[in-house]
Amino acid sequence: MRILLTVGHSKLKNGSYTSADGTEMGGGNEYKFCKSLSTYLKKELQAKGHEVDRVVCPEDVFTKSTEEKQYKLAIEKATNYDLTIELHLNASSNINAEGCEVLYKTANGKKYADKIQKKLATLFKDRGVKQRNDLYILNQTRSPAVLIEVFFCTNKKEWKYAKANKKKIAKVIAKAL
Ligand SMILES: [Zn+2]
Repeated sequence: MRILLTVGHSKLKNGSYTSADGTEMGGGNEYKFCKSLSTYLKKELQAKGHEVDRVVCPEDVFTKSTEEKQYKLAIEKATNYDLTIELHLNASSNINAEGCEVLYKTANGKKYADKIQKKLATLFKDRGVKQRNDLYILNQTRSPAVLIEVFFCTNKKEWKYAKANKKKIAKVIAKAL
């Protein structure tokens, strides 16, 4: 497959991140983790024979998060991708909130979401797949799309595990495709 792999959020011109940050709860920064995980995932997907374009928004350039959308969608629409995958981490004010979930909009997206969720749930608590109609990466891409909330960046236990197991996480996601 020809896959577009995008990293959710960005680092703005003023130095702030548009992502969640669980550092104060013993976790860490969503964007930074997903950016790192995406390099592992790209390798694992390529090893399975997929063609992968990885997209990270330029850092210290945008002044608002809405610029991320235009940047990513322009890239997605320029090529005929079979699948778009966007990486995110969940966040909660409840320190015990945990687990993985994969979001989708279309029936085509759900096929991939189901497969990824099944594999990811071997590493994190299974929160199931969820249909969302209000996210641009799911409702404005030409290709079927999934948004993976890998785990909670606000959960200390999950953060510690995930930080030490990026390659393993990338492998199980790649195995699903
Ligand atoms: Zn996010």
